[in-house]
Amino acid sequence: MKTSLDEGNKPVHILDYDLNEWVGFFQNHGIKPFRARQLFKWLHQKNEFDIEQMSDLPPGVKDLLKTRFIFPDENNVSIVKSSVDGTAKFLWKDGRNIYESVWLPYENRQSICISVQSGCTLDCSFCATGKLDFKGNLSTGRILEQVYLAQKMMQRKITNVVYMGMGEPFHNYDNTIKSAQVLGDHDGQGLSRRKITISTSGVLPGVQRFIEDRHPFSLAISMHAINPEKRARLMNIEKKYPLSSIIEYLQQNLHLMKRRQVMIEYILIKGVNMSEEDANLLVKTTRRLNAKVNLIPMNTSYQGLERPTEDEIQNFWQMLQNKGILAFNRWSPGLDIN
Ligand code: SF4
Repeated sequence: MKTSLDEGNKPVHILDYDLNEWVGFFQNHGIKPFRARQLFKWLHQKNEFDIEQMSDLPPGVKDLLKTRFIFPDENNVSIVKSSVDGTAKFLWKDGRNIYESVWLPYENRQSICISVQSGCTLDCSFCATGKLDFKGNLSTGRILEQVYLAQKMMQRKITNVVYMGMGEPFHNYDNTIKSAQVLGDHDGQGLSRRKITISTSGVLPGVQRFIEDRHPFSLAISMHAINPEKRARLMNIEKKYPLSSIIEYLQQNLHLMKRRQVMIEYILIKGVNMSEEDANLLVKTTRRLNAKVNLIPMNTSYQGLERPTEDEIQNFWQMLQNKGILAFNRWSPGLDIN
């Protein structure tokens, strides 16, 4: 069997293959398929990237892997830790690609927010990523590496993964989904699939494909404003895929999500999307979709958009609460490291 990735002699990232692709790769090289699971466990369960430490692999297999693959390398990442709350920011450099991930420690879970692209083709007005040069999609291996090396460096296991770093996950659909499937594989990290959240800015064809493929992962939609004119000022994508069409599609197809709730992401920006009318529209949408709401106060001021005060945040949260909507209010971790 020839795998889609096993073409030519170009080095491939060792985390790019899922278990089936490893079986195919080994068969192509006359190696018994059971070696695939052995290797997969070393990589995705034990996060061991030193081939010499893989004690049950024969020398011939080790030599083949060493010549054909690129390995995760801690020298490609720098880390900045918050002295206030333990949040850690990882800056990755792979050739011309630069991207970030953020480790968010909570009392009862360890969460990481990861990137799927270097830069982003969407230019949301509150986001610095959209202003960077777009360099391209990250491979499955480069996405997974963010989780595995981060947990090695932090010496803790990740419990939740959120695809909400740089880039739009549904603009890199195949690598996003494949990496999420590998994270949920019981021979690998074995993460609960509900604890893997794909967060989109609202790419309608991607949302449709995700729901119709019936993936078991959680889905978050970045809404940030329900009023179309207001949302279009914050997010260009509103002009291409209006939020109303996404809401309508979701409402008609919620039954395909098998009791999983959609998460509405809502960034709080002072004087922009925090009026009573904004709150009422958000309440209405939340009810229509039987969704959950995650309020994210802007971390810092950016391009004339400002972080609200603690009172304003509390006031908006209360307006939702008064209408029976219990919103999560993320506490803006890592303020000292942006
Ligand atoms: Fe930034 Fe996400 Fe918007 Fe891209 S889609 S510009 S990464 S907020």
